[in-house]
Parts: sequence; structure tokens; C-alpha cells
Amino acid sequence: MVNGVIPLEPAAGTAWPADYSQAWTLAAPVERSGVGLHSGGLTRVRLEPSDQPGYRVGWLDAPQQPLQALHPRQVCETQLCTALQLDQRRLATVEHLLAALAGVGLTAVTLLVEGAEIPLLDGSAQPWVEAIAEAGLQALGSRPAPPPLQAPITLQQGQSFATALPCDRLRIGAAIEFSQAAIGRQLFSLELTPAAFVREIAPARTFGFREQVEQLRAAGLIQGGALDNALVCDGDGWLNPPLRYPDEPVRHKLLDLLGDLALAGLPQAQVFAFRGSHGLHTALAAALASLP
Ligand SMILES: [Zn+2]
Repeated sequence: MVNGVIPLEPAAGTAWPADYSQAWTLAAPVERSGVGLHSGGLTRVRLEPSDQPGYRVGWLDAPQQPLQALHPRQVCETQLCTALQLDQRRLATVEHLLAALAGVGLTAVTLLVEGAEIPLLDGSAQPWVEAIAEAGLQALGSRPAPPPLQAPITLQQGQSFATALPCDRLRIGAAIEFSQAAIGRQLFSLELTPAAFVREIAPARTFGFREQVEQLRAAGLIQGGALDNALVCDGDGWLNPPLRYPDEPVRHKLLDLLGDLALAGLPQAQVFAFRGSHGLHTALAAALASLP
């Protein structure tokens, strides 16, 4: 352990795709269950191989309902997590699972869910990466290229902005600014590959603030949030160290950005978010999804 950072060996031994040029599904089904962040109840997800492009959601507790292909237009709430309205049902906290699927290069997966949210697990995408490594990947041939970005897209919300610039690969970056000394200003960017995602982004956990945690809990939200599934900042320090990276918060912001972009499929672009939020990320995903 150096400077309070634990080195991780995520899903060691797994051969991840070299890049995002091919289509992949799972080689076998795999299942995880755990507590939902908001409800505090137990929820379950079964990931299954699919030969249909995209991520499609069905229900373990309503198997007669048709699968629905995920799209940014389904986003119905972005305050604490990304929640989707899928016909009559709401599905919350989809972002870390979607980041794991897209990040490792999976392009075709069926998600069967029991409950109204995706389990939070440890607050990162790492347990999903491990589940995917357990199932293995199955090649589906070459992947249709995403629609080319002809001109930059920039979205601004207050002091925050997100931008996508034409690029021949996926470069992604984020910057955050907090007055709390434990976080301060952080910037992280990289050329994304499945191996880089697994090594640099997937293990970064959700973070929150001590006073916010108390308020949200009093308001009946984040009933499942606890010190073992989110980093909690107390101004100058953390209530539950050690961190997995010295800049774990900005890496988690990138994880959230990827998960939200995954609603439209990973773009071929240079993407950057300054003080990003789920609202901004999903608006960018919607803009990318509407490209001709
Ligand atoms: Zn997150």
C-alpha cells in the first residue's frame, strides 16, 4: 500500500478484446444480486448472451413482457443516479452496469432484472467486470461503426459542460472541482480500450459527502448506501479510506460518463465532461444517438 492506495488486480487473467472494433456477447449467463441504493431492498440481475445488437432489458419477475432495447430517450431521472422508464416500469441505477458492459467491449447483452433498480454492489463497476470475466466473452464478428461525428457537439448546464469532438477512436476525459480539500481539482483522461477500462476506471467507487448522506437518508433516499458501497468525504479526509486510486473520484466520474453514453452505444469521438452530471451525460448520449 502506497499513499493509502490499494493496488488491484481486476479480473486477472481475462483476455479482454484489444479494442472496440468487434461485436461481442457473453459466452454464458451470469447473475448477481445485492442491495439497491435507493430502496435498500434486494435486487437481482441476470446477464444473458444475445445475438441482437445493443443492450435489452426484460424482467425476471415478468418474463412474458417483451425485451426493450435501451436508448437515451428512456432516461426519466438523473438526480442521484440514472433511472429509465421502460413502459410501465422504472429501472434505477443502471450506469455502473452499463459502463462495465460497454467498457469491456460487450455490444449485445440481455439484462433480466428483478426489482426496480440495479444492485449497487461495491459502488464501482468492478464486481460487474468480475461477473463478465466469469461468464467469458463470445465473438460476434465485426461491429458496425458508430455514425461519424461531422462537427463538435457541446452542451452546457450552468458551470458544467460536456463536449464530443470528431476523432478516429474513443478518447475520454473528465474534470471535477470540489471545495472539499480531500477532492479539490482532479483531471483524468485516456484513450479507452477494454483493458484500460478494466485497469483504470472500473474499480473507482461512487463518492458522496457526509452531510449529504445524512440528508438523503432522512428523506428516505439512499437506504442501501453504506460505508461499504460508497466513499464518503468529510471535507479534508474520507470516512472510509483507503482509496483505490489517489484520484478515485474523477475516475468514478468517467465511469458514470461511460455508463450514460452506453445508452447510445460507445461513440467514436473525443469526449470531455467538466463538472459532469448524469443529466449532462445523458443529454450528450441523446445528442449522439440522434446523429443521422
Ligand atoms: Zn456512479
